[in-house]
Amino acid sequence: EDVANKIAAGEVIERPASVVKELVENSIDAGASKIEIKVKNGGKDWIQVIDNGEGMSPDDAKLSFERHATSKVERANDLFALRTLGFRGEALPSIASISRVNLTTRTEESLSGIKLRLVGGEIEKEESCGAPIGTNIIIKDLFFNTPVRYKYLKQISTEIGHISDIVNRLALSYPEIAFYLEHNGRKILETTGNGNLLDVIFNIYGRQVAKEMVKVDYSDNYMEIKGYVSKPTVTRSSRKHQSYFVNGRYVKSNLMGKAVQEAYHTLLTVHRQPIVVLNLKLNPILVDVNVHPTKLEAKFSRSEMVYGLVQEGVTKAIKSSDL
Ligand code: ADP
Ligand code: MG
Repeated sequence: EDVANKIAAGEVIERPASVVKELVENSIDAGASKIEIKVKNGGKDWIQVIDNGEGMSPDDAKLSFERHATSKVERANDLFALRTLGFRGEALPSIASISRVNLTTRTEESLSGIKLRLVGGEIEKEESCGAPIGTNIIIKDLFFNTPVRYKYLKQISTEIGHISDIVNRLALSYPEIAFYLEHNGRKILETTGNGNLLDVIFNIYGRQVAKEMVKVDYSDNYMEIKGYVSKPTVTRSSRKHQSYFVNGRYVKSNLMGKAVQEAYHTLLTVHRQPIVVLNLKLNPILVDVNVHPTKLEAKFSRSEMVYGLVQEGVTKAIKSSDL
């Protein structure tokens, strides 16, 4: 059991940012409207996620550290039709097997909450306690019992960079959720949760960029592309600032990247890339993913249609903006 968890952890948990991703996705699945993330030293020492979601009953809280004890649907093959982000029931047991965990949680129905302390996946202590509705989880000393993996962690600045990328993406895909991220007590990101994507772009990229974004809103009978792209005057040197979502789920998509590139082709100087946040909505049967748990590369069965729609939608948007 413990071995299986450690193996799963090796696949899913590459670095502190993977922990942040799994925990925040659980908060989103729990219906949270407010998610606070506090990390110390690039997440190597401390990762805390506090949400106001539905919480867990004492029994469910203990069960959540058992392998495959997911409360969610078990259908990996239609990921894009799922309402929830998690589906394997592997994340918490995996994370717990390679760290020290403190979990406090309460549901609306229970008068008192439960506090659990785990070391290397084993429950060491449990007590009932007062707690607000929701979940507060702390992951300390990640990889403390897998020293080789600890050794391969990068510098603090690199690890916090990865964490910040993950939280930015999640904030961009959920403008209706208020996100707060701090590192060593310093605020890195705060969004309002007012549902306005452009406000999230402002929170991440700043006022100047937000002012220079143009809206994309384009559809045909089968699919819809919505979001924002920067005017050709506002660019970055890499594609790092391009976020693509399919039915609200963050994906890697070379195809969408190329379609965007094509829309800008003569407008960009070499090695310049626009800032992009685009969500493609389509029937889930038209999309498939390389199901590696940490990297979602979207594959479309109607790729020419997707390419055409993205390219036309973006072209129309930049043409309509006063250049
Ligand atoms: P999955 O998300 O794939 O179901 P996880 O290991 O991430 O598996 O979580 C296990 C279970 O623990 C979830 O199915 C959910 O029931 C519960 N859970 C985890 N985090 C939270 C949270 N923040 N709020 C409420 N329930 C949670
Ligand atoms: Mg999960």
